[in-house]
Amino acid sequence: MESKSVLVDVHGRQIHKLRVQLTDACNFRCFYCMPLTPEFLPSSALLSSDELIDICSALVDFGINEIRVSGGEPTLRKDFEVIVRGLSDLPLGKLGLTTNGFLLEGKLDFLKQTRCQHINISLDSLRAERFHEITKTKYFQKVYDAVIQTKAKGFKVKVNTVVMRGINDDEIMDFVAFSADHDVEVRFLELMKIGCSNQNHSLYFVPAQEIIKRIEKFEILLPQSVNRDSTSFNFTTTSGAKVGFIASESQAFCSFCSRLRLTAAGKLRACIMSEAGLNLRGVKRELYPEIFKTVLRMKPFTRIDHIKQPMYQIGG
Ligand code: SAM
Ligand code: SF4
Repeated sequence: MESKSVLVDVHGRQIHKLRVQLTDACNFRCFYCMPLTPEFLPSSALLSSDELIDICSALVDFGINEIRVSGGEPTLRKDFEVIVRGLSDLPLGKLGLTTNGFLLEGKLDFLKQTRCQHINISLDSLRAERFHEITKTKYFQKVYDAVIQTKAKGFKVKVNTVVMRGINDDEIMDFVAFSADHDVEVRFLELMKIGCSNQNHSLYFVPAQEIIKRIEKFEILLPQSVNRDSTSFNFTTTSGAKVGFIASESQAFCSFCSRLRLTAAGKLRACIMSEAGLNLRGVKRELYPEIFKTVLRMKPFTRIDHIKQPMYQIGG
């Protein structure tokens, strides 16, 4: 939904989306996202639920109308429900959650009572053993069941799949079939040069156009219209699948970006690819407008090649 955001930068980009990292902690260890022994922030370094809702509420006053909570793993926060309820009370057009799905089933009845109806679940493989290798967990079935249950309860579900050569790229058509069978949109993500995935990036990277070509050997892809600031381009297929592509590396969408990011520690960031930003924690609300303006000026217009900071610390 386009907004009457007052957060407009010098390039005319209307900023109306906010990605909120609830925590950097996670119970999975996806090899491209975090090391096996990560260091997480102490809980004292995280915004409290009140602080977080307060900052989001101020940003909504300035025109943010879409919020997605992410992490680390957002459902690990003990006050997850307090936060989502607070965000749900804000006048948002859309509230979403990106999760690894591990704790999701137990939260679905709660979420159903909120505005948080757009749930993205990460699932990089449909094969249990492979999923376990990628995530370093034994929870394939739990995550798979969470996808099915979330769909069954009427949420708008998307599966996020990072496609990696030699790791899971032989499953592209399995995911297309999964989408058609379960009426769940699958979004194929290009591996981004962020943190751990800078290492061996060229080895694992599969461009979206290659994925498309591979699908087109078996299916006709029918393009769907999307908003100008959409991060994905989407298709339906003749078999009834819904697939999207987030081509952050090969077809960067920075010039249409409409997003700011709030880290779990309270830093307002202008871009996933840059640590530039300003702290909002403990800052008086009357100073926010100046801070928002300064952060807007930090938004790059063209793609920054890579960032060393790992994804879980940025908030995916
Ligand atoms: N833990 C939650 C999850 O896994 O959905 C939320 C945070 S996670 C960082 C958000 C998304 O970022 C996931 O879909 C994950 O696969 C994706 N991701 C992490 N590192 C990435 C990278 N280097 N390139 C592309 N996507 C990445
Ligand atoms: Fe955790 Fe999500 Fe990163 Fe996997 S991608 S390690 S689930 S934060």
